[in-house]
Amino acid sequence: MKISVIGTGYVGLVTGTCLAETGNEVICVDIDKEKVKKMRNGEVPIYEPHLDVLFERNIKAGRLRFTTSLEEGLNHGEIIFLALPTPEDEDGSADLSYVLGVAEDIGRLMNDYKVIVDKSTVPVGTAEKVNEVISKNAKCDFDVVSNPEFLREGFAVDDFLKPERIVVGSTSERAIELMKKLYKPYVRSGNPIIIMDEKSAELTKYAANSFLATKITFMNEIANYCEKVGADVSKVRIGMGTDSRIGKRFLFPGIGYGGSCFPKDVKALHKSGKDDNYDFKILESVIDVNATQKLALLPKIKNHFKDNLKGKTFAMWGLAFKPETDDIREAPALDIINELLNEGAKIKAFDPEAMNNVARKCGDKIEFSKTMYDALQGTDALIICTEWSIFRTPDFDKIKNNLTDNVIFDGRNLYDLEDIKKENLSYYSIGREAII
Ligand code: NAD
Repeated sequence: MKISVIGTGYVGLVTGTCLAETGNEVICVDIDKEKVKKMRNGEVPIYEPHLDVLFERNIKAGRLRFTTSLEEGLNHGEIIFLALPTPEDEDGSADLSYVLGVAEDIGRLMNDYKVIVDKSTVPVGTAEKVNEVISKNAKCDFDVVSNPEFLREGFAVDDFLKPERIVVGSTSERAIELMKKLYKPYVRSGNPIIIMDEKSAELTKYAANSFLATKITFMNEIANYCEKVGADVSKVRIGMGTDSRIGKRFLFPGIGYGGSCFPKDVKALHKSGKDDNYDFKILESVIDVNATQKLALLPKIKNHFKDNLKGKTFAMWGLAFKPETDDIREAPALDIINELLNEGAKIKAFDPEAMNNVARKCGDKIEFSKTMYDALQGTDALIICTEWSIFRTPDFDKIKNNLTDNVIFDGRNLYDLEDIKKENLSYYSIGREAII
């Protein structure tokens, strides 16, 4: 099939590449000229495991092309995916200007029947708005479909090729048939393509992300309470998670959720509720608790150093909002860096993939290191912000030989307390006894 994808970020580029992988002819459109130039030269502009192999293979086969011309994209595809940003607006709502702006252009440029598929995360009623905007100028038939994306950064290729479910929101038989045909190769193992109306599809995405953010936040509150009463959250977690009604996943406490999705999606659903006279009390708490949780290590750090961080240097392992990505949007590490710099401390950071993105944001305010051990040299303490696998079994002797004050502040509970006790280190984590 002939497919166009508008927007080549984490969602659009993975969508385009994975659709080409099953034999479709795909054109990806982006307004970022530099990005398109890079992709045309065979360079993947983001870090996403396994994407490079598929990207190269499909470009070589001529099934995956890139352009800055929306017109070229529209002339090519029968199905047009919108994978455009929907960032947080000042009032917490989702900014729809990218989606509606492109919809307006599509209305003017379209010459024959198209299915416009919204993959961006958008509030209930957006498909209707897109429909209205396109209709203003449309000279031909079209359908608007809501097809929210559930891929996770770091597992995006796998998630796209083998999705647990595909949600298609549409009431047009013609569009539904085309979507089923397109997605058939991805659900061979029997996972469902769930057809529903547009509004329910739009809300499904916000409900899923808000539920997951709530699950994380609930566990963070349990962890904070564990610290008050001397319980161990890692034991509570296992005790809870073995109940199949609760499940083991998404129960790991830490320094809060970040990324390009959970923070903005929870806020957008909360704001949509307000606009529709519904007060999502639970989401308000999730937003508040998470903002505090991102800085949960700060009081521990300040306490340990008796409120005097001036002149201290901290090694920081992990900057990305989670492992296996270079994405630093809303990453807790950035909040901690800001606070420490304000207190007069210095930072030497290491992240396997996210350092370039942080350098672009922080400039020379912090120092970057080539390896995780280089980051320790000449520092007082180690702070862990992201649970990259390489941090899980470090050489503790190297840590001890470098840190002036032998202390680790672990925002992701990477180490067993029993192991740490043998190392003769001070260790603060989340929801567990501090080892001093
Ligand atoms: P992104 O910021 O990584 O990428 C967006 C891309 O769109 C950029 O390359 C940008 O240059 C391009 N763009 C902006 N305006 C354009 C225009 N007028 N024409 C063509 N291209 C344009 O965003 P993302 O993370 O891929 O997210 C896209 C949407 O998908 C958002 O609504 C997001 O909430 C949703 N989503 C994201 C994820 C994720 O893990 N990142 C997962 C599921 C859903």
